[in-house]
Order: sequence, then C-alpha cells, then structure tokens
Amino acid sequence: MNAPASSGARIVVARHIVTMYAELPRAEALAVSNGRIAAIGDLAEVQAAMAPGTPVEELDGVVLPGLIDAHLHLQRAGLKALDYLGADDGVDRYIDAMRESFDDDGPEHPPFADRVRALVRVQPLLHALGITGVVDPAVTIDEMRGYQETHRRGLLTMRTLAMPFLDLGTAAFPDVDAVIAHLDGTGVSTGFGDAMLRLGPIKVYADGEALKGQALLQEPWNASGYRGLQRLSDEDYERLVLWCAEHGWGVGTHAVGAAAVDLVARAAERAGDAVVPLRFQAIHAYLETTPEIMRRAAAAGVIASLQPSIIWHNGAGLRRAIGDRAESANPVRGWLDAGATVAFGSDGPFFAFDPRHLLWQAVTRRVAGEAEPLSLREAITIHEALAAYTTGAAYAAMAEHERGALRPGFRADWALWSHDPLETAVDDLRQLTVLRTDVGGRTVYTRET
Ligand SMILES: [Zn+2]
Repeated sequence: MNAPASSGARIVVARHIVTMYAELPRAEALAVSNGRIAAIGDLAEVQAAMAPGTPVEELDGVVLPGLIDAHLHLQRAGLKALDYLGADDGVDRYIDAMRESFDDDGPEHPPFADRVRALVRVQPLLHALGITGVVDPAVTIDEMRGYQETHRRGLLTMRTLAMPFLDLGTAAFPDVDAVIAHLDGTGVSTGFGDAMLRLGPIKVYADGEALKGQALLQEPWNASGYRGLQRLSDEDYERLVLWCAEHGWGVGTHAVGAAAVDLVARAAERAGDAVVPLRFQAIHAYLETTPEIMRRAAAAGVIASLQPSIIWHNGAGLRRAIGDRAESANPVRGWLDAGATVAFGSDGPFFAFDPRHLLWQAVTRRVAGEAEPLSLREAITIHEALAAYTTGAAYAAMAEHERGALRPGFRADWALWSHDPLETAVDDLRQLTVLRTDVGGRTVYTRET
C-alpha cells in the first residue's frame, strides 16, 4: 500500500510557508494533488498551475515541512503510551508521563495485537508535535512484524525507516557470523520497502552509554586509565561493516565517544562508495569527537545522527564525571563545520522528544538542572536546527528526494504551526503549538480548540 490517498487536488494558503528549499525559502500557497505538492509559490502562480476551480483552503498559521525524528523508538513509544495514558490523554500528558518514566523500557514481550494498537495510539501524539516521519533506530524481529502488520492494515500514518537490530552477544546472535547469516538469509537489504515503511541500515553498538562511563574515549575517563567499553573488537566491527557494504546493507553505529567514532570513520573509509547510498550513520557521536575524526567521518560519507535531548539530560552528570571536558559535548557546530550531514533525533521515548524543546536546546545549549549552558562554541542557529530536523533527517531516512522540504513533486507532508520558529524569540520556541498535520495530503492530526 502506498501513502494515504489524496481526497483530490486543492490549494492551501497560509500566513506563509517555510519551504526549507534554498531557491524558494518562503511561499504563500501550495497545491496538493495525489499526495504530493503539485505547485508552490504565490497564490496567483499556484492557481495558474492548477485547474480552474481547484478549492482553496485558507489556514491561519505557518506551514513547515513535516519534521522527521531521525532517532525515535516509535513502537516502544507506543507500547509505553498504552501503559501510561488514559484514553483521553493527549500529547502534553504523554510528554509528562514519559519524562517521569525514562528508565522504563516498556513491556518486553507484549501480545502481538498490542504492537498494532501501540502504533495507532502513539502516531497522533507525535503528529501533534509536527512529526510526520521517524527513523526507528533499533527494530527487533517482533517489532518489524508489528510495523508490517500495521502497514498492511493501512494504519501506518508515520513514515518509518526501520533499522533492523540483531542483538549481538545474545543466544540468537552470538557473534558477527550469526548476524551476517541472518541478514544474508532474508534476500532483501537497506532501502527495501515503500514510502511509508522502509528498511534502513542495521543498528550495531561500538560502545556503551556515557553516563555509565562506557563511551569509548581516546583519553582515559579518570586516573585509572579506563577508556570506556568497546562492545565489538576492531576486527569484528570492520568485518561486519565490510560485509554489509558489499551486500547492500547500511550500518548505523551507536558510537558515543571519540574512539568509537574513530572506529566508525576508519571502517567507512574502507567500505568506500557504498557508504553514501546506504546512509551509514554515527549515532550519538557526542563525546570528545575531535575535528579531525569528524572531518574523516564526514568525508567518508557518514551521517552524524545527533540528539540534543541526550545532552539536555546528561549534561550535568557529564560535568560531574569529567569536568570541563563535558563543555564540548554534542558538537553540532563541529559536525556541520566538518561537512557532515547532521540529522536530529530525540532517542524518545527514553529522552525528551518534543521538537520545540530540542530546537531550543540546540540553539541555547542549556542542560537540565544547570544554570550555565554548555560551551556555546557548539551552538547552532535555529535555521540550522530546523534543517537537521527536516532536510538532514530526510537524508538519513533515505527520502531527501521527496521529503524534508516543500517543493514541487515532494510528498505533501507538512504541519501548520501557530508561529514561524525562524521568527520566534529563542525563549518562546517551546511555547509554539502545532495546529494541524498532513501526511501525503491527508490530515492526520487537528488540534482541538
Ligand atoms: Zn535509541
């Protein structure tokens, strides 16, 4: 099944439209036909491009491209929504409930029917934040079945790039050879799927979590000389990456610390031309990554999949653990200057996932519980932050040719915001509201007034 069918051609006029398309950054109207943008520009231009009498809808707000969260555990977010929300609870309650339960992973073996119910429950909550697509960064075999069934029933409204996660070191996948055998046995690879549900790169772990002292660093964590947890040997990691590159699988690597990102860069350099089309990612990539490592990773074609939310929650703990070394954490400026494509995500529902909050954090570098922001040398502009959530994340989602911007021929995935984030005072960003969200020309969320 393809994107939700359009109910026919129409023209949408807004206060203005933010296109995230450099040649026409702003527009007045867009026309939708068959789930795609048929024309965009001044109202007169758009009307001239359409059949006479095409209905015109006037909206009081600012239209933005649908946001793409490049790291959101969508199905687990849905299972937690089933656990924590009453039938009438909306997105505000959901945000609070998840903040109060970050440590709860949700049910481990839910009944299969719950997987479909979970997705149906959570999608509108995220559409209410202007999100129209996600990259789910760790999809188990059971979760993949849940996505497929939800899509088969025509119930998937969130465009999803699913990154298969074969948990290395468990009984099912004791070693790299077991992972390779499984991937080889499916007969499909990264990119398989359609505009609603597509297979992404696989997910592997090079190191652990920063607050557990497991990020693999180049400098020791402390006087003991400990540098962090390397979850795969250099040899095993490179062997897996090179096999994937040769067989059509991309690799997204959980790599928090500099030494782990260095490992990703080295393997990508060896993998060569496969890296760009298969959208290899360095995931998190935020602790003491040097300009040299970032430049090499970017030059090899590796996407920086970054989450402003993680540093919001971990900033204070990192300052306690490593002092001033924490100041440069989550170097978004550094990754952009290195020439990388930066894709923003949240790691929701286990970290803050409200894009208004994350846009604000990326600009201000503020951290929870601290008066002082982290070093502003790594701050970016609101436009750069919005790009990481749209064009950058669309690239990570293998969809930059039809999503992430509002251009003729692109999918009609957009949200109506109360105000333009690009023209909002930084401290007011978190108070913006999303009034309506469309996916493929179909309205999937309308704010009740
Ligand atoms: Zn995650």
